[in-house]
Amino acid sequence: MEEDSGCSCSGGKFGGDGFEETYLGMDNRFGEVSLIRCKRCQRLWLHYYYVNEAFTGSGRWYHGLLAPEMENSVTADNALEILSKLAWYWCGGSWYHGSVVKEKGPPNLFP
Ligand SMILES: [Zn+2]
Repeated sequence: MEEDSGCSCSGGKFGGDGFEETYLGMDNRFGEVSLIRCKRCQRLWLHYYYVNEAFTGSGRWYHGLLAPEMENSVTADNALEILSKLAWYWCGGSWYHGSVVKEKGPPNLFP
C-alpha cells in the first residue's frame, strides 16, 4: 500500500467522527480488534488494542493499513498475524508515552 500523506488518517491517529469502526472482538491475548475505515479517503485500518492491567502504562494500540481485499479475511484471531506481516504499522498509547511511532514485525506485547 502506498503511504498517502494527504489525509488525516495517514499519521495513525484516528479521532473524531471521520472514522467508521467495526468491532471484531478479542483475541487470545485479550487484545481488542476492530476495523477502522476513514470516511474521507476510504482506506481501511486494522486496529489492535492491548493493555496488561497489572502494568501501569502498558496500554498500546496498533494501526496497520490494510489492502481493500483484506476486509473480509480479518478476524480477531488472525489480527496479530496480519499486523506482523505488514510492511509497517503505527503504534501509540501510554506504552509509547503519547508518541506515535512506526514499527514492523510481531508487536511486542510484554508486559
Ligand atoms: Zn484517510
